[in-house]
Amino acid sequence: MSNRRWVLVFALLALLCLGVMRLQRPGGAVGVWQEGELICTLDPASVREPYTLTLSTRSGESRIHVGPDGVYMESAGCRSQLCVRHGPLRSGGTPIVCLPERIVIAFTQQREDVDAVSG
Ligand SMILES: [Zn+2]
Repeated sequence: MSNRRWVLVFALLALLCLGVMRLQRPGGAVGVWQEGELICTLDPASVREPYTLTLSTRSGESRIHVGPDGVYMESAGCRSQLCVRHGPLRSGGTPIVCLPERIVIAFTQQREDVDAVSG
């Protein structure tokens, strides 16, 4: 194959990858589950002024930051603080899970995938 053909092949492959990535990108909506119940759906992309969502939990309260910079657990009543250390929720990343408080923060699309897999 000539060099020019290779360039064409790579360009096509790159385009294909971009298309697949766009299709696989989870929807912008973020869901918050507590005790297995979806308690609210957020759309961080449309948030201009960041705000804090406060949930009352077993050991106090958990504060979730919602803003254009993302969604993350600001503070939590749990001992492990793993959910706080997780940092912002990213598309393609792992959901924010607080096991002791039974809180899950995930892209709604992602969560549907998880549900589909677990049956
Ligand atoms: Zn936690």
